[in-house]
Amino acid sequence: SFLHARSSSAYAGRLYGGLLADGGFDEESCHSRYQSAMYRRNPGRRPSPYLTSKLRRHEALQRRCGPGTAAYSNALEQLRSGASAASPECKYMVSISYRGVGNRILAAASAFLYALLTDRVLLIDPSNEMDALFCEPFPNTTWLLPPGFPVANYTRFRVDAAESYGNMVKNKVIGSGSEAAGVSAAPLPAFAYVHLNYDATVEDYYFFCDDDQRQLRRIQWLAMRTDSYIVPGLFLVQAFQGVLDLMFPERDAVFHHLGRYLFHPNNHVWGLVTRYYEAYLAAAKQRVGIQVRVFGAVPDSPELLEQIVACTQKHGLLPEVLAEEAEPMALASRARSKAVLVTSLKSWYYEKLKSMYWERATATGEAVDVHQPSHEEYQRSGARSHDHKAWAEIFLLSLTDVLVTSGMSTFGYVAQGLGGVRPWVMYKPTNSSAVPDPPCGRDVSMEPCFHKPPSYDCRRRQWADISEDVPYVQHCDDAIWGLKLV
Ligand code: GDP
Repeated sequence: SFLHARSSSAYAGRLYGGLLADGGFDEESCHSRYQSAMYRRNPGRRPSPYLTSKLRRHEALQRRCGPGTAAYSNALEQLRSGASAASPECKYMVSISYRGVGNRILAAASAFLYALLTDRVLLIDPSNEMDALFCEPFPNTTWLLPPGFPVANYTRFRVDAAESYGNMVKNKVIGSGSEAAGVSAAPLPAFAYVHLNYDATVEDYYFFCDDDQRQLRRIQWLAMRTDSYIVPGLFLVQAFQGVLDLMFPERDAVFHHLGRYLFHPNNHVWGLVTRYYEAYLAAAKQRVGIQVRVFGAVPDSPELLEQIVACTQKHGLLPEVLAEEAEPMALASRARSKAVLVTSLKSWYYEKLKSMYWERATATGEAVDVHQPSHEEYQRSGARSHDHKAWAEIFLLSLTDVLVTSGMSTFGYVAQGLGGVRPWVMYKPTNSSAVPDPPCGRDVSMEPCFHKPPSYDCRRRQWADISEDVPYVQHCDDAIWGLKLV
């Protein structure tokens, strides 16, 4: 498999066509950075030359302004003083880490794109194991926020925090972008908290308005909380559109590139990925990933099992099985033909699928091998070995050739984006005792969905359906109120 993948890579293989910097790293410290491309049968999309050069310039910025530099010490001094410098040398975006691994990855990717667009240094809040899952993405510096950040308790800021941009506007501590446009000399704080959690208010959503972005540009330190993929919202800001076009001429591959650039499993997680891959998936002719997102307290669902079977068989992803008494065909080949990777918190779905393909012959004579790396039963985000497994399984799913995901799950979104595949999405049933019809549908793009996008038209200052204005932003099939890039 190793050799196969290596020779089938369509372009400058291991560093993803210049997406990753050549040099500046000790290869031993991060094997996945140099090996992951060899595990991918689908080489994925090519990054634009503008994106790769922008990334190199950004790496220089991270080095020049990052922790340990004089510029960083000065910026901390300024932060302690409370007022923004008139023209600060370096500006910062801190990404707060919370919820599941999928949520945390999408939040960091979103913060990174914002940092690229606004020439800010990205710093990741290291809590919730964010310092124990990934390699360092930027050469010769660190993306982790060092201990002792002067804004006390910033990771616990919520919708009511007085420091949030939305509340500062609402309480007239600062004018809203448009009001302030004429009086731009008004002093701004050195720090603002950007609240883009699911419960964000109208004022919080001003973040996606051009006038407010002009104002935010003058605030040296931002810390953002989001559990979602806010990138489609950044495409609504007119000031960003030119650079976004240059960076991402293929708009459906934004997370694909950002994700492959930023998130390299550290050596421990890479061991989990490669040992599992070589033992259970490498030999198969085709790999089918099935992500079954269930919640700890919900009983095993025969309807969901039926949905999985209906989806995979209807679309020819897995072979149908013959009736119990039917005379089986000779096996098509001694080589295992399909390996199925099931990921789930529960083992029941896996066991049922595995039994089905043992007890019954397939209509095609293919052998179907079913595997599941773990079943953790309950979500325990922030626990190290639990998160290690979750991240390894997301990555393993991204190495499959065909992907079936559970709708609305960021876990699946990350896998599809890293893999570069448009998944078959199993919709959430409206009535839990019925199998949805159709059981699944092909996603319109591999991009993650922004679940709670702004529904506010900045120019007209009124509620609006943004998807009507921007052609490459559509509502998501799995979350109709959500928005995604296509
Ligand atoms: P989302 O909640 O579906 O959007 O995905 P997240 O990744 O943000 O949060 C779900 C969390 O539950 C994961 O990060 C894991 O901790 C756990 N989890 C859910 N499904 C699985 C699974 O299939 N395998 C493993 N190992 N953990 C899972």
